[in-house]
Amino acid sequence: DDVDQLDARISVCRACPRLVKWREDVARTGRRASFADQPYWGRPGPGVGEPNAPVLVVGLAPAANGTNRTGRMFTGDRAGDWLYAALHRAGYANQPTSVASGDGLELRGIRIVATVRCAPPANKPTTLERDTCGPWLDRDLQLAEPTLRSILALGSLAWNATITAARRIGWQVPRPKPKFGHGATATLLAGDRPVQLFGSYHVSQQNTFTGKLTESMLDDVIRRL
Ligand code: SF4
Repeated sequence: DDVDQLDARISVCRACPRLVKWREDVARTGRRASFADQPYWGRPGPGVGEPNAPVLVVGLAPAANGTNRTGRMFTGDRAGDWLYAALHRAGYANQPTSVASGDGLELRGIRIVATVRCAPPANKPTTLERDTCGPWLDRDLQLAEPTLRSILALGSLAWNATITAARRIGWQVPRPKPKFGHGATATLLAGDRPVQLFGSYHVSQQNTFTGKLTESMLDDVIRRL
C-alpha cells in the first residue's frame, strides 16, 4: 500500500468500540455549540502532509471538536493553531493556520499522524486502545522509512509508542529505552539508516496556556529536525 491507501484503510477502522462510539456520538449529538451547523467527520483521523517526507510528526490523538470535526490532523483546535504556526515559522507549512480542508494549507517535507487515530473521551486513550492502534503507526513508519530523517514525538505517549512501533518493525532502538523529555533525542536505526527521534512537550492547551511549552521551546526542537 501507499500512504493514501493506508489513510483510506485507517479512516474506516472500527477496532476500538469505546472510541467508535465516542467519535460518532460527538459527531451526531455532542457537537460544540459554535460548530452545531457544521458536518462532523466522526471517523479516525488520516495523516496529513507529504507522503515521502523526511520528517514525521507523531501526535497523541484527535480532539473531539478538532480533527474529529474537520477530518484533518490538528485542524480546528488550539493545539493545531500552535503546531501549524510553528511549522509555518520553520518553513514546513505555507500558512500559519489550518482551519479545514480546502483552506489552502500545503505542507512541505513533513507528514503528521497520531498515536491513536480516534478522538478519545477526555483526550485519554486507554492502554488497550493505544496498543490496538499501534499497527497503523508501524505501517506509517515503514512507508516513511525510505526517505525518513527525523521524527517529532509530541508528548511521552507518542514518544513511547514510536519506540515500541520502531522495535516491532525491526528498527534498532538504544537500550536502555531512551527517556522522553522536552528536547530529548534518540537515534533509531532503520537497517543501517539513522532516524533521529526528537521529543517535545505536546502542544496541548494545558501545556501552552500554563507556559510549560513556549513558542521558542517548540521552535528550538523543530529547528533541529
Ligand atoms: Fe482503529 Fe485506531 Fe480508531 Fe482504534 S483508535 S478504532 S485502532 S483507528
